[in-house]
Order: sequence, then structure tokens, then C-alpha cells
Amino acid sequence: MPDFPAHASPGFPPMQAPKPKRNVSEFQLDTNPADPSSVAPPLVSPSLTPPTTPFANGQRPDRQPRAVPVPEPSSENAEEQGALLEKLPHVECAVRARIPTTTGQEMWLHLYHNDVDEKEHLAIVFGPHIRSRSLDALRPGETERDRMIRGAYVGTLYPGRTSSRLEAIRKDAGVSSRPSSGYLAALNGSPGKKQEAESDTSSVASGYPDDLGPAMVRIHSECYTGETVWSARCDCGEQLDEAARLMSLPMPTPASTPGSEIGENDAHRAAMKLPSAGGVIIYLRQEGRGIGLAEKLKAYNLQDLGHDTMEANLLLRHPGDARSYGLATAMLMDLGLDGERGIKLLTNNPDKVRAVEGPQREVRVVERVPMIPLAWKTDGKSGVQGPEVERYLSTKIEKFKHMLSSG
Ligand SMILES: [Zn+2]
Repeated sequence: MPDFPAHASPGFPPMQAPKPKRNVSEFQLDTNPADPSSVAPPLVSPSLTPPTTPFANGQRPDRQPRAVPVPEPSSENAEEQGALLEKLPHVECAVRARIPTTTGQEMWLHLYHNDVDEKEHLAIVFGPHIRSRSLDALRPGETERDRMIRGAYVGTLYPGRTSSRLEAIRKDAGVSSRPSSGYLAALNGSPGKKQEAESDTSSVASGYPDDLGPAMVRIHSECYTGETVWSARCDCGEQLDEAARLMSLPMPTPASTPGSEIGENDAHRAAMKLPSAGGVIIYLRQEGRGIGLAEKLKAYNLQDLGHDTMEANLLLRHPGDARSYGLATAMLMDLGLDGERGIKLLTNNPDKVRAVEGPQREVRVVERVPMIPLAWKTDGKSGVQGPEVERYLSTKIEKFKHMLSSG
């Protein structure tokens, strides 16, 4: 984000009186409307947020985020599950490309087409382990060059490369199936990149490695105002940055998990910039909770007239939240993140947890990592601030039942 003057905020008043904190295991994701006591989400007000939250400023760069386990759905909410989209959309990864980023971390931008809308939804993939099945699949009549142009190659592109597959390159060169790292480095045109080349080859055979546990996933809906034009009406830009940062952390070790003490080795590890475990941000083109930019701007005017986000949407005859996540489920499956092992979802939104799992629980959310607003974690020293974002976050909590709690 560019350095843009934020709305001045005098201090950082607590949003509302703290409620008793509940143990996460007793918290039901799908609340029972007949029982009003089950509706209240656990809340941690800014004043109660512990000062040692895992990733506040100045903390260890390799510190992993704190995750909370997500309980299996009960038979009660299986009915609600049935109310979700019955059939998942069909998605196909049309193209991917390597994007070096301004933070130094490389990511792979995957562009998807689908059969339910005309939009180009995206998967922002960190780390070498996550690959798209539909991208890698052979397409009739295509040449090796076609495959490389649409991004269906292994390893790294370099001037003069003729095959999308490392195996074929090795064979042509008469090299055994396990070439020396020097050979691979030469192939990739950069002697310093030997480690990267090796991790790429291993990733193709194995997919997301078992020992990394569930992959980290964020489902993010496009927000032009918050991500591009410095809006302080919401915290979307900040959340996108934070998700990217977490997915760029070095691979987890027992010592880098919350609750452990810092050791010399860990500091050394962090300084060495070891490869990250990676993850994926599914970036859905559903601006303004799905209502589009024009309608969102009208909603902003209604907010300035005194209505909150949800009321404004309803006054414009839109549902409070028009987003759907079937596309995200289908894209996660295409990226090989379906199945037993499950994923670790970065979210405060309880509805999102079940919504991304799909009608048959094709994708399983086994852990949830809360996204605490930066301004709360840093006592108002950084992060999006101002009266508008305060109101937005309190609406999120009260009306959308987000769980802005580290559990
Ligand atoms: Zn936003």
C-alpha cells in the first residue's frame, strides 16, 4: 500500500463493552435461532486483545499464526449445508504466470474461467507446492511452446527453453532422472537458484507435501476502494497484505509455533529466508459483497446518511451479503486442496467456513486462523483507522457475526 495520509483518529475508543470470552470448543459455528444465548459470538474488544498477539510489529519474522481447530459439522447444521449451492461450478485455469513482488516473495498468479459468470477469478499461489490440475492437463493440439505460454510448465522459464517438462529436458540432454543441482541451475539460467529448481522438481511428483499439514487458504473478495484507492472505510487492503505475509513465512517448525521461546537457531532460520510453506489466496471478483462497485458507492452515500453497511445494502434492495463461495471451492479442488487433510482458513467469518467446504464437504476446513485488525493488535499504532472503519468493523461483528477473536 502506498503511504497515504490516513484519516486522523483521536485515540482508539473501545467498540463496545467486552463480553465474557467463551472457549472455542463450546462455540457453535452455526447458531441455533431458537436459543438466543447461542447467537452471541465471542468478542475480544480492542482493550482486551493481548499485547502479545502472534504477529504484532517487532515480533519474530518466522512466527506462525495461531490457529484454532474447527469442529466437525453436527447433524443439526447438515440441514443448513443442504441450503448451499447444490452443484459446484466448473472451473478451468486458463493461464498462470510468475510474479515477483515488491516484498521479495514470488507468487504464481492463476487466472480462472468458469461456467457461471464471465469474470476472471484469480488464485494467488505462494510457494512451489500448489499446482492446478486443469492447467497441467494436456490440451489437444497444443505445442510445448503453447504450454509454456499458458504457464503449464515445471520449474522456471528461461530464454531458449523448449520443453514444458523438466523430464523431457533431462532426457534430451541424456541426464539421469535425478540431475545434479548444478545442471538444473544451469538449465534455469541462474547459478544462484539451485535450491528453487530442486524444490520445483519435487513438488511436481508429490503436490502439497504431507509434512506441511493443511495448506493456508484465504478467500478474498475484490475491493477496489480498499485495495487500490486507499479507502479507510474497510480493512480489505490490510487483510490482503496480511494474508500474503503469512503465506510467505518460512516453513513452520515446533519452535516457531505460538507459545515457544525464541532460540538462536530460529532467528538464524528467519534471517536465511528459508522457503515458505506457501498457501493460496482465492481472489473472487465480487466487489462490494457481490453488489458491484456502482452499488457499493451508493451504499457509501447511504452510510454517510447514517446507515450501516448492512442497512445500506438492504435499502438498495440487495441482500446483506450477496457473495457466494462455490467458485472458491471449485478452484481449491482444482489446486489439489480437497480431501481428508483439509485446509487452514484465514477468516473471522463463521459462514465462510462452511460455505467454502462445498455441498459434499469436498474441501474441509480443519483449522481457522483469525484475522485481527492491525489497529487492534498494535493499539492503534498502525493499520486502517478512522470512524468509518470503526463503524464497518462493529457492523461486521454485530450483524455478520464475525469472530474477531483469537479464540
Ligand atoms: Zn473493502
